[in-house]
Amino acid sequence: MADQGGERSAQADMKVSFDLVAERIGISDGMRKLLIEPWRELRVALPVRMDDGHVEVFVGYRVQHNAARGPYKGGVRFHPHANADEVRALAMLMTWKTALVDVPFGGAKGGVMVDPHQLSAAELNRLTRRYTNNIQHLIGPHRDIPAPDLGSNAQTMAWMMDAYGQTNGYAPAVVTGKPVEIGGSLGREAATGRGAMYVLQAAASDLGIDLQNCRIVLQGLGNVGSWFARIAHEKGARVVAVADHLGGVYNDSLLDIPALVEYSKAHGSVAGFPGGTQLDPEQIFMVESDVAVPAAIENVINESNASKIQTRLVLEAANHPVTPEADAILKERNIPVLPDILVNAGGVVVSYFEWTQNLQQYSWTETQVNEALKERMLRAYNAVQSLVKSSDRTLREAAYEIGVERVAKAAEVRGFVV
Ligand code: NAD
Repeated sequence: MADQGGERSAQADMKVSFDLVAERIGISDGMRKLLIEPWRELRVALPVRMDDGHVEVFVGYRVQHNAARGPYKGGVRFHPHANADEVRALAMLMTWKTALVDVPFGGAKGGVMVDPHQLSAAELNRLTRRYTNNIQHLIGPHRDIPAPDLGSNAQTMAWMMDAYGQTNGYAPAVVTGKPVEIGGSLGREAATGRGAMYVLQAAASDLGIDLQNCRIVLQGLGNVGSWFARIAHEKGARVVAVADHLGGVYNDSLLDIPALVEYSKAHGSVAGFPGGTQLDPEQIFMVESDVAVPAAIENVINESNASKIQTRLVLEAANHPVTPEADAILKERNIPVLPDILVNAGGVVVSYFEWTQNLQQYSWTETQVNEALKERMLRAYNAVQSLVKSSDRTLREAAYEIGVERVAKAAEVRGFVV
């Protein structure tokens, strides 16, 4: 599968963290190769008839990185940059994430190189069905279970479940993050943002940050960002600035988050929201804060802005928002970074609950889901924090170490390397 586009290699960035951990925990060369190589990759061409009658051909991927601990699991991203390199990197991240929060899955990722905002609902439906048909021999309730990610949502999962079911029979457990009406779990939509908030609450108490009086800046008000902002707002934290791909808004006294979320849904962006001052979205992390929360895309905190960020803590709600170079600068500046594989793992935790509910045909209450989510997030946070306290590791190094070690152990006891 050839790499395409992209200014830097996301996969190479992931390898930096992996190599450091592999060296530290002393895993063999053979095991290293087994853990770094994706086990299976598929590239598909996706012809779609557009509403005006012409045919467009999109490119999609499914990368299955590692299944030592269980069936492959990972989102499907609809984004123009969802190329082979990015999807591979995100698949690897899923492997360490599922291990860190101890859900019985491996890691995978899917992507379609498309800007979903440019397609009608009917075109997106046709594209999603074509993608599902073309990868259906790789997925299944006990093989590989997709979920929503950047640019996709519960509706996308409903179309995927339906398309898969047309040839394979009724199988709601083939995807998670579905609408509740067709077997989705209560609490799944909010799970990633809620999980990030559980991690923030635990970390704030460890770092002496008072959430009642703290200032938060946020990039991204999609699924993850909007739920994180709503829950933070409910808990009394002050989200003072929010930016997305089209604009930004700032209000130091009181940004009305519920109103901003409604506005952004109606207008497709926070740009123009009347309840604050307009902000250049590029400047979001320059706004002084206690907690900076990237919840949109990758590489947004990088070499060019890491030395200027005015914050006390970075909470990686998005996947890979901080580059390795920025990580080093933030470490130097004593700004802790709570890593993506911990912070945004709430989505895959509740996806696991959804999958088990589908297999058992028994549904949980929202309270049960949220309590079980909290318990798993805190267990993972505490494991990371105790490794940090007993060593000189950063939070990211500790999180990776726990994840990688668990996957290596599973591969070893299964006898892959003989
Ligand atoms: P989404 O599509 O629902 O929302 C994305 C948000 O990011 C939107 O507000 C959009 O305007 C903004 N955005 C897009 N490009 C931007 C840019 N160039 N600059 C600034 N803002 C930009 O996506 P999501 O599901 O909320 O996912 C966000 C991140 O969280 C991704 O990194 C994703 O991989 C990660 N994630 C999502 C889930 C989940 O359950 N949805 C789980 C784990 C991790």
